[in-house]
Amino acid sequence: MKFIFYVILISLFSVSSFAQDEENRKITIIHAGTLLNVAGQEPLSEQSIFVEDGKITDVRASYINDADGDVTIIDLSDKFVMAGMMDMHVHLANSSGNPADHVLAGVKNSYVTLMAGFTTVRDLGASDDSIFKLRDAINDGDIIGPRIYSAGNIIGVGGRENGKECNSVESCRKTTRDMITGGADWIKIYSSCSGTQPCAHEDAAPMFFPDEIEAVTEVAKKYEIPVAAHSHPTASGNMVLDYGVKSIEHGSHLSTEAMERMVRDHVYYIPTFSVMDMLEARVNNPSTDPARAKRMQKTLDKNPRQIMKAYEMGVPIATGTDAGVAPHGKNYREIERFVKIGISSADALKMTTVNTADLLDKSDTLGTIEKGKFADIIAVTGNPLENIKDIENITFVMKEGRVYKD
Ligand SMILES: [Zn+2]
Repeated sequence: MKFIFYVILISLFSVSSFAQDEENRKITIIHAGTLLNVAGQEPLSEQSIFVEDGKITDVRASYINDADGDVTIIDLSDKFVMAGMMDMHVHLANSSGNPADHVLAGVKNSYVTLMAGFTTVRDLGASDDSIFKLRDAINDGDIIGPRIYSAGNIIGVGGRENGKECNSVESCRKTTRDMITGGADWIKIYSSCSGTQPCAHEDAAPMFFPDEIEAVTEVAKKYEIPVAAHSHPTASGNMVLDYGVKSIEHGSHLSTEAMERMVRDHVYYIPTFSVMDMLEARVNNPSTDPARAKRMQKTLDKNPRQIMKAYEMGVPIATGTDAGVAPHGKNYREIERFVKIGISSADALKMTTVNTADLLDKSDTLGTIEKGKFADIIAVTGNPLENIKDIENITFVMKEGRVYKD
C-alpha cells in the first residue's frame, strides 16, 4: 500500500515538473514572408521558423502562432529572410596603435559587422592576441559581434609587415605551435608579399622555402587546424597547394593549373574583391604616383576576369572582403561586386552562407535555415535575388537565437 502511495506521489511530481518544463520553454516563432532557407535553392513564402535555446528546431509552412511553451512571435512577414551572412577574410582588431587601440578597434568593428548582417567571420590576421579575447568575450555574450574564427597573428618570414617569424624549419614549427596553443582556430600564412608591395607581381617568387611551408602545415595538421594562404604571384599559389592549404586568399595570379587543382582538392578561393573599391579610388586620385596607378589599373582589369574564370571552372568560392583594408560594416560589397561581374545573385548569396559554412567545416550548424542549425537569421527589406543592392537593407539580425537588431 505504502509502495503504491509513493509511486503515485512520484508520478504526480514528475507530471507537474514536466508541465512546468513545458511552460518554461521559451519558443520564438519567426514569420518569414519570403524565406531563402538554403541559398542556391528557390525561396519559400509564408514560413514559420521555430527557435529554441539558440537553435532552429523547425521550419513549417504558413504562419503558426502556437507551440507548447512561452511563445514570442517575430513578424517578418514583409521581409526577405535568410541565414546570417559570413565573411571569410576580415581583420577586426588591427590598428596602428597599441594593444588598447587594437581592442577598441575590435569592439567597434565587431559591432558594425554584426549590424551589417554578418553573424560569423574568419579573422585572418590581428595585431596581437586581443582578437582571441574578443572572440571569447563575444562568445560569452559580453561584447556584441559576430562569431569569430581567428588565426591570430599572420605567420610570415618576419620583420616589418611580414608577420610572425617563420624563417627556418625550427622557427616555423615554433611559431605555428605557439599560435595554435595560444588559441588560433586557423593558421594564416603570408606565402607572398602583400598586394601593395611591388614584390607581389605575377612572376614573383614565394616568400617561403618549401621546407618552411611544410613545417607550418605539418604542425597545423597535428593539431587539426586548417591553413589559409595569402598569395598573389602564380608560383606561391602553386606552392601552397602542394601542402594542403584549405583556402587561398586574394589569388591575383592563380594559374589555370592551380584552379584545376583547387576544383579537384576542394580548396577555396577567397578573391577579396572588395579591395578593388579602394584601388579604384586610388587610381582616380590625381595625386597617386603614375607608375603605381598603372600597376593598380592592371590589377583592376585582371581581377574580374580571374574571378569569372574560377567561377566558370567550378572552383569553390566564398566571400571575404579583407575588411580592415576594405571598410568594416560594408561586407556586402563582396556580394555586390560578384553580381556586377556576372555571378548570379543566387550563387553570390550561396557564397556568403552555404560555401562559407563549408569552408569553416561547420555545415552541420551554420549556413542555412534548417532544423538543428544555430538560429543565425537576418532579414532584408526588398529582395536581393532580384536586386542585389537590397542586401544593404538589413533590418533584423538574430545570432544564436538572440535578437541584436530589429
Ligand atoms: Zn587580409
